[in-house]
Amino acid sequence: MSAPFSFQFGARLPDRLGRAGVITTPHGAIATPAFIAVGTKATVKSVLPESMADLGAQAVLANAYHLYLQPGPDIVEQGGGLGAFMNWPGPTFTDSGGFQVLSLGAGFKKVLAMNVDGRQSDDVIAPGKSRLATVDDDGVTFKSHLDGSLHRFSPEISMGIQHQLGADIIFAFDECTTLMNTRTYQEQSVLRTQLWAQRCLTEHRRLTAERVGKPFQALFGVVQGAQYEDLRRQATRGLVALGDGADGVTDDGFDGYGIGGALEKHNLGTIVRWVCEELPEDRPRHLLGISEPDDMFTAIENGADTFDCVSPSRVARNGSIYGESGRYNLTNARFRTDYGPLDDDCDCYTCANYTRAYVHHLFRAKEMLSATLSTIHNERFVVRLVDRIRASIDGGYFADFRADFLGRYYRRDATVATAAPGT
Ligand SMILES: [Zn+2]
Repeated sequence: MSAPFSFQFGARLPDRLGRAGVITTPHGAIATPAFIAVGTKATVKSVLPESMADLGAQAVLANAYHLYLQPGPDIVEQGGGLGAFMNWPGPTFTDSGGFQVLSLGAGFKKVLAMNVDGRQSDDVIAPGKSRLATVDDDGVTFKSHLDGSLHRFSPEISMGIQHQLGADIIFAFDECTTLMNTRTYQEQSVLRTQLWAQRCLTEHRRLTAERVGKPFQALFGVVQGAQYEDLRRQATRGLVALGDGADGVTDDGFDGYGIGGALEKHNLGTIVRWVCEELPEDRPRHLLGISEPDDMFTAIENGADTFDCVSPSRVARNGSIYGESGRYNLTNARFRTDYGPLDDDCDCYTCANYTRAYVHHLFRAKEMLSATLSTIHNERFVVRLVDRIRASIDGGYFADFRADFLGRYYRRDATVATAAPGT
């Protein structure tokens, strides 16, 4: 019998940490590097799971915080676990809820979007929001963003929820800091996350032993440490050490690793590299939450095997369409009588059957199908891009492909921005 969870890698980038490989899970294989589609509440918004499979999505990532609040982990468990509940037969991930507990609860703006110039504080609240979460050494107490009710997550509670949800790959509960936190706070937080990682591993082992007759779940430790090289490396070494018997348990520790926390575009590659230099080669590495095509090349080049990204569906619902020549806004009046496909080079269902003029009309008329058709296109665009990146690693032409793709993508972006402000 083959192992329920494994990772093998083959081709690697010369002088870089990027590689191509395969993650095997109880619900199927994931060829890496891979884009993991985001289905926060057990659905990729507006798109059928069958359509996601048709467009080549390999796996879906849902969120433990959202599913804990609604409908509740009991309901998902009784429905057969996340995959069966949402009718997605392939591999699934859940993230721990650490980011949402703090970002939604504390009222911070999105970490990546924050303007932190000259501001640093451990108690900054977004304008108009009140603090809804407090962190202590044992866990996080937070108010639901839905109804204000009081809840608590700890490493053990997060593991319990994620075992009930039943995804193939789950993440340790971590404290996700922001770029605004002081260096002193980041140091304390890395130590706290390390202690929580140990507790997650212990609880995961206990729950796994009880999990008779159910599919194996792989647990990934999450590396924090914000923008500090020493903290990122220290955090990574601490997590890796949990598998070397130092904690008194002689198993392999974490099955893989997540890279979380405050990442800005300009230091994303550097931070991923610091972490991946410290990680064992034989474990998969997941980068939690990135957005744009150039970030994908950067993450992959520096060693990320998988990454999740909500942008393709989020921006699609606003009419923002990915194309080989850059991103454009389909609601712009100039597309009213454009009977071409959303992107000339695309092979998706939407581009095969519908025109820009039609989908433009759907957006203007506020028809729900606008979200479905544009999301199918954007998700396919990213899946296909990452497929091509993987092929370029295997074929030894990654650098050429990146230069060619990004050259076309961002050149057009600039002209669209000039022609149509706000797109
Ligand atoms: Zn398309």
